[in-house]
Amino acid sequence: MLTRRAFGRFGLAVGAFSEFAFAQRGATQYGALPKDVAWLNANENPAGPPPSALRAMTEALPSSWRYHYPEFGEFYDALARSEDLNRDQILVGAGSSEVLHAAVDVFTSPTAPLITMMPTYEAPPELARALGRRVIEVPLTDGYYADVRKMVNEAEKAGGGLLYLCNPNNPTSAVTPKEDIRWMVSNLPPNTWVLIDEAYIHFAATPEMESALGYVRQGKNVMVTRTFSKIYGMAGMRAGFICARPDVIQRLSPFRNNVISIVTVRGVLAAIAESKTMIPQRRATLARTRTELCAFLKQKGLRYIDPQANFMMIDIGRDVRPFGAAMARQGVAVGRPFPPMNQMLRVSIGTDADMAKFRDAFWAVYSG
Ligand code: PLP
Repeated sequence: MLTRRAFGRFGLAVGAFSEFAFAQRGATQYGALPKDVAWLNANENPAGPPPSALRAMTEALPSSWRYHYPEFGEFYDALARSEDLNRDQILVGAGSSEVLHAAVDVFTSPTAPLITMMPTYEAPPELARALGRRVIEVPLTDGYYADVRKMVNEAEKAGGGLLYLCNPNNPTSAVTPKEDIRWMVSNLPPNTWVLIDEAYIHFAATPEMESALGYVRQGKNVMVTRTFSKIYGMAGMRAGFICARPDVIQRLSPFRNNVISIVTVRGVLAAIAESKTMIPQRRATLARTRTELCAFLKQKGLRYIDPQANFMMIDIGRDVRPFGAAMARQGVAVGRPFPPMNQMLRVSIGTDADMAKFRDAFWAVYSG
């Protein structure tokens, strides 16, 4: 029998290493939330799936009694083509969480540590620790992005390992410059792999941002993850993918759980078909809302890290924990703490109405 306790354990295990689980843990830390909440805690995108994807998913529902396995080859082809790759250079997962998980499974070992920038997205280091792997944390540069020289140095000392680099970085919203990534890829010690998480790449407008997919095409020891949870607004549909050399994809494949749902497949196909117009439009809309928040913070004399993604970090000059709890009581869920940056509040950029609510609540708590 599935007891309540067992169910609780199961529920935790299902999403233990996902943004959802981290956000939920953060929200719980901040106490009970009122009913009408502005969800600015998980870097979701309220623009939601594009209308074409909604239509495609709705149309897929009646035939969801079938597995539809024959469609997956075409799906892989279309997805790979959209990134100028071949079918054997990608692996799709239930969100990028699943394929990040597979990469940590395969490329860390009792002798190969995970070497990660810190603070960053917690899933890879938390999983590596759960697997009993050594995790080496490398502090960010003064620009709040990855210190690639120190990371490579750690790999050298360890005799190899897996480097995890999130670009733009969650939670700092800062970009690791393309020259640094280039240097890192050309200076990898033996037995060293790089996992570059580009979940938020579509939001970044700085010329310093360059996708690492070029290195995958060149056959380097580089893996890149992408997701449909962020600019595509489809977090609940669970789709993401990893790009790597075909031999790497083959090593990762057994560590993925299964195929994604056919409903999601159809939605993703529709969304990528309009990505060329949708992505710049969404990036511009988001940037406008984010600029308004920056202007508000400037006017109040508050410091923040220059943002390149759909979230930003504000220096509140005090412990973020009680502040987050007070925000929750005002009906605004904000990001969890990201030690050691304990005085920086991460807030996701929501709708204009969400952000108006955020500004009111923020100022009430900050000045209260
Ligand atoms: N990578 C980063 C940097 C994230 O912030 C997140 C979620 O917020 C993920 C990966 C995982 O997202 P998903 O599994 O929905 O693709």
